[in-house]
Amino acid sequence: MADTILVINAGSSSIKFQLFAIEPGEQLDRRLKGQIEGIGTRPRLFANDANGECAVDQSWTTDEVSELHQALEKLVVFLREYVGSLPVAIGHRVVHGGPEFIEPTLVNSWILDHLLRFVPLAPLHQPNNLAPIRIVLERLPHLLQVACFDTAFHRHHSEIADRYAIPDRFYREGVRRYGFHGLSYEYIALRLPLVAPEIADDRVVVAHLGSGASMCALKGGKSIESSMGFTALDGLPMGTRPGQIDAGVVLYLMNEKGMTVKDVEHFLYHDCGLKGLSGISNDVRDLLTSVDPKAKMALDYFAYRIALFGGMLATALGGIDGLVFTAGIGENAPTIRQAVADRMSCFGIKLSEVANAKNELCISSESSRVTCYVVPTDEELMIARHTLQVLQKHEMPEERRA
Ligand code: ADP
Repeated sequence: MADTILVINAGSSSIKFQLFAIEPGEQLDRRLKGQIEGIGTRPRLFANDANGECAVDQSWTTDEVSELHQALEKLVVFLREYVGSLPVAIGHRVVHGGPEFIEPTLVNSWILDHLLRFVPLAPLHQPNNLAPIRIVLERLPHLLQVACFDTAFHRHHSEIADRYAIPDRFYREGVRRYGFHGLSYEYIALRLPLVAPEIADDRVVVAHLGSGASMCALKGGKSIESSMGFTALDGLPMGTRPGQIDAGVVLYLMNEKGMTVKDVEHFLYHDCGLKGLSGISNDVRDLLTSVDPKAKMALDYFAYRIALFGGMLATALGGIDGLVFTAGIGENAPTIRQAVADRMSCFGIKLSEVANAKNELCISSESSRVTCYVVPTDEELMIARHTLQVLQKHEMPEERRA
């Protein structure tokens, strides 16, 4: 097989990965998509090849694989067998690049230590994202690793968009409106000239609606505003997170309900959003098929908040020419897109019922003033591209490819 790039998205008990072959002309060809799950409970490595056929499905006991480094060793063994060699580089999804990291960065131990300083800014994600980087640095120090940040694409926001109305010293120490899902928005911004050239240079609102959800205002393909802020808790309601919430509610939970900081953190990340509101599920598919009025209310609320933030972002852009839906819900749920469009009809948004029902690329009706699209996102490909670019800038001696 050609040289490959491994893309890793590491969570608390699972590592999602994809393998891309670097074909002639620097084309990246997806060869594997898989996951190691159940680390510490029921460790299992599975992956499908480019045709969706099973390439590996192996399980171990917790005695054999109880920790992350053992899981990574199993992955390395499998990749060596499957590909015949190690990847030339690993691209990692890293949720937080803090104020400084505004582009994908080759990681060494100094950079890693620096990235660890942002753990308090993303306590649930950053440590998991960084753990495999540390292990690979220790065990395979010649393997190039590139950190790709979810915050980086938003780091050119104006100061006014970047601030909270709190004393300046907090801004200087990093309490800022970072915005997330940047790799997804960057991918969409690069796709628009190809799939929607008439809006690519104009004012576009993108709704990334997955289990995490946010929206981004793109002006000429650059992010100028986001619904998310300091953490991935802000903005839209999500599967289990509430989105925008009055800080007074947090004070109430602590003062009146005796909840500790840890209790509140768990509550906000795991018990709220569509799950908390409906009392049924965090998954939009379950809510769409439920006859319970609470499911309908949760979905109405979701669409209402998306439309409200759409209005906010349209104001930041000084108008709106395009609306793009992406990620699990955005790509697959016509009912949600329709509900959002109906609530944003004051902007001249009108969907074609047929195109929307079929999840077509362009879903707006001919009379719509705003063109609306469904554009599938591909954060892993974005990470692989960034990794390749960093690799090309970096002088890569032949022996590192072994
Ligand atoms: P993430 O990568 O953030 O985990 P995804 O972008 O894969 O999330 O989106 C996952 C969510 O997408 C699911 O929780 C589910 O609510 C929603 N989803 C996936 N497929 C469909 C579908 N066919 N119809 C409606 N919602 C869907």
